[in-house]
Amino acid sequence: MLRTHTCGELRLNDINKTVTLCGWVQKVRDKGSLLWIDLRDRYGITQLMLEEGTSTAQSILVARQLGREFVIKVTGTVIERISKNSKIDTGDVEIKVGGLEVLNSAKIPPFIIEDETDGGDELRMKYRYLDLRRAVVRKNLELRHRMAKVTRDYMDTQGFIEVETPVLIKSTPEGARDFVVPSRMNSGEFYALPQSPQTFKQLLMVSGFDRYFQIVKCFRDEDLRADRQPEFTQIDCEMSFVTQEDILNMFEGLIKHLFRNVKGIEFEKFPRMDYADAMKYYGADKPDTRFAMSFVEITDLAKGKGFQVFDSAEIVVGICAKGCAEYTRKQLDELTDFVKKSQIGAKGLVYVKHGNEGIKSSVDKFFPIEQLTEWLEVFGAEKGDLLLILSGETDKTRKQLSELRLEMGTRLGLRDKNVFKPLWVLDFPLLEWDNEAQRYHAMHHPFTSPKPQDIGKLHSHPGEVRANAYDMVINGVEVGGGSIRIHDRTLQATMFRLLGFTDEQAKAQFGFLMDAFEFGAPPHGGIAFGFDRLCSLFGGADSIRDFIAFPKNNAGRDVMIDSPSEISDEQLKELSIGVVKHSK
Ligand code: ASP
Repeated sequence: MLRTHTCGELRLNDINKTVTLCGWVQKVRDKGSLLWIDLRDRYGITQLMLEEGTSTAQSILVARQLGREFVIKVTGTVIERISKNSKIDTGDVEIKVGGLEVLNSAKIPPFIIEDETDGGDELRMKYRYLDLRRAVVRKNLELRHRMAKVTRDYMDTQGFIEVETPVLIKSTPEGARDFVVPSRMNSGEFYALPQSPQTFKQLLMVSGFDRYFQIVKCFRDEDLRADRQPEFTQIDCEMSFVTQEDILNMFEGLIKHLFRNVKGIEFEKFPRMDYADAMKYYGADKPDTRFAMSFVEITDLAKGKGFQVFDSAEIVVGICAKGCAEYTRKQLDELTDFVKKSQIGAKGLVYVKHGNEGIKSSVDKFFPIEQLTEWLEVFGAEKGDLLLILSGETDKTRKQLSELRLEMGTRLGLRDKNVFKPLWVLDFPLLEWDNEAQRYHAMHHPFTSPKPQDIGKLHSHPGEVRANAYDMVINGVEVGGGSIRIHDRTLQATMFRLLGFTDEQAKAQFGFLMDAFEFGAPPHGGIAFGFDRLCSLFGGADSIRDFIAFPKNNAGRDVMIDSPSEISDEQLKELSIGVVKHSK
């Protein structure tokens, strides 16, 4: 090795040792006869000291020419520092440099390589390899490594084996568009990149691998957000001969194991909530349960009292914001503007304050004090509380109120990143009506089994059929989801028909799976966790990007390698592809 120690290693008990370190120059301070260098590597920062008289003239000359991010190798003696730095692990010592060698010079970096940087997002992504030198970013990847390691340990002890599935496949329906790859050898034909290994893991169950997992890349061509990337990683799992309960316990175990080993946090049994209740009380299938503020419906109390807005509404529903009765006009206006934003789309917001000056409401013209008092009671509101009420069509209003609830949770500081509230959401509907396409979609995916007691409704009331499907939610983030699968060819064929496939289409796309079901498919089910999301959640961040070594930007571009990019005419020809150019 070129070095004897790393830059994060030396302590007081190493004093007088002769050591050799390698690393990057973080900073040089030249005080005339004395000169200090902060030397950085993956493990930390060590202070180097050169002194006229003791260090060689040559070393001092070289040191004076060092720039930020030069790569150097130094040899010297570990000494105790006079002024210690308690902020760094090596802060008690420094190296009195004898020899100094430049291993490589560096251009001035485009942004400051420290925890606090002046580099904007795009610039940091363009020079991501420099960004990754920053301790804050590196720590995220270290956390990711640890999460993967701890996951593999748990899965291994539970008897799961990791099997790789192919990347060049055929469409897997997870509700997004496929990325496709042209085939040179099969002109005019395309592979699809897996949106998930769903069908393969089911086939592995047919093969008798009764406990499969894989930490695997998935690809979905959809609009990007802070917590989405076109390629992302799942902890993908499948088991045979299990009930839903078995799956919930096994993977609650995984998440507990991760919290215990990565964050030192212990959990009791995770709470469970039906999808229907999640929608009714939180307006979302992934409620943030770090705080209560659950919905209270006052439809019956509020309708028929002459207030047109409520009278024409399907639902009147609200939340009680504790201690917010003294909100000012301005604060209430801000909340009204918030719910009226186009992304949320409410028409207005009704409030009732139970404040120092008694009960005040934006609708007191229509509702006398006795009625407002009754509302307050139903909400369980106390003096000092504020009711925020929305009305309209049920699904839409619940969604809008859900956004307002989260906003209030944030405003009131109830969404602490160091508090973790896991939750299972169960009994999802099997199908979801798509108004635009005028047909049903599978809410999870087409391989999800209906609840046996609901199978009778498949044809008469498809929208009411519940699925053996479950999501794990932590702090309002869906971290994982899965289902017990259909393992019977006839039921699978029925499902495809319900989803609008003709038998021919179903056969062309999923014939291989339905055929496999005729060769002794065991009952099976599984789940997949969004690994990037889990990492960002554990790391206390909102964006998954900082937990991915080389992420893409919001337009799906890798600005460092400049991809996607055009390919040569020759390549196009080989692939028998013609490109229609659109002006940008
Ligand atoms: N394949 C599913 C997904 O990617 C997970 C599962 O059902 O196991 O969401």
